[in-house]
Amino acid sequence: MVRSTVAHVGLAALQANYRAIEAFLAARTPRARRPPDIIAVVKANAYGHGARPVALALERAGASMLACADIEEGIALRRAGVRGRILVFGALSVSDLGGLFEYELTPTCSTPGAGRALQAAAAARGRRLRYHLKIDTGLNRLGFRHDNLALTLPDLFRSPNLDLAAVYTHFATADDPSHPLFEEQRGRFADALARIATMGVTVPARHAANSAALLREPHVWYEFVRPGLLLYGVAPAPWAATLPLRPVMSLRSRIVSVKNVRAGEGVGYGARFTPATPRVVATVPAGYADGLAARLGGRGEVLVGGRRAPIVGAVSMDMLAVDVTGVPVDPGDEVVLLGEQGAERITASDMAAAIGTSPYEVLCRIGSRIERVYDEVGQ
Ligand SMILES: *Cc1c(COP(=O)(O)O)cnc(C)c1O
Repeated sequence: MVRSTVAHVGLAALQANYRAIEAFLAARTPRARRPPDIIAVVKANAYGHGARPVALALERAGASMLACADIEEGIALRRAGVRGRILVFGALSVSDLGGLFEYELTPTCSTPGAGRALQAAAAARGRRLRYHLKIDTGLNRLGFRHDNLALTLPDLFRSPNLDLAAVYTHFATADDPSHPLFEEQRGRFADALARIATMGVTVPARHAANSAALLREPHVWYEFVRPGLLLYGVAPAPWAATLPLRPVMSLRSRIVSVKNVRAGEGVGYGARFTPATPRVVATVPAGYADGLAARLGGRGEVLVGGRRAPIVGAVSMDMLAVDVTGVPVDPGDEVVLLGEQGAERITASDMAAAIGTSPYEVLCRIGSRIERVYDEVGQ
């Protein structure tokens, strides 16, 4: 049994996006240099698309390194059959480090304490451990502060069981072309790398670019780039036109009832939609329990009968209402919440813009109750 609200995930589109990013990087890398490798970001259940099928499809498309948020996600990827390297972005202070060794995961070291814990865990097992070092250049979230590395790094670099595999940072404002912090962070990262060189440590690889940084600035490509959003077919706002991407997820449902509402009657909880003229309202079996934001009521749209129709009234837990006045619709007709119908299209960015959030949040919120259906291609 499949519920009528389904998220279709196009693995062929995902693989095409991966290749489009590869081609973009290759075309813009000077001939004498090697284009950066891609660390494909599949954290948070692959941005809501389903970590297992997405990770395996990316590996088949050629991704040699995947990244996830924490050790638990890394273990799930290994159990799903991922063979390549898996980088764990998150902090390790509250984690059981055993999984790093048992499942061959690459941790991020972002504090001196994490460095000591990793060294102790590796020594206790008689193992060596490769890690990526994270420098905080201005996001003020995770990482060694860029301005006192001379104090904090020597201990880490002396750890006998730890091998530095890469140094990285993360931008706070890559998707805002007018914000000066991006260039400041770029400069601080360059200074940090120079500082590390003065400590006599060789840095095998560097990375900094998420999707927006990848699109805006080849100078931050280094040896690896770390796209997430682009893989899923969404371009961060001002850079939208630079790459031919295909949205990977579409969200479809079916109308379960169609009703004539008289002038002055209310629709849904709180009677928030009380039209002054007679309207036709259709009910769609998807609500906030499926991850559709309550704020979509009165702001969002769906596609039905090949046209855009507004979401009206309060979004309920399991249902929402759409004003379909003038659109010939019947119960059973397809409704598109994200995706294409006829000549119309609603993207995660459109939905995000309607409710004042980001496409990241729209995708990640698509609930676990919604079944993900994958295309055969690429499996
Ligand atoms: C999530 C994440 C990314 C990917 O970001 P996108 O904007 O989706 O490309 C890259 N690096 C780090 C450290 C992240 O947490």
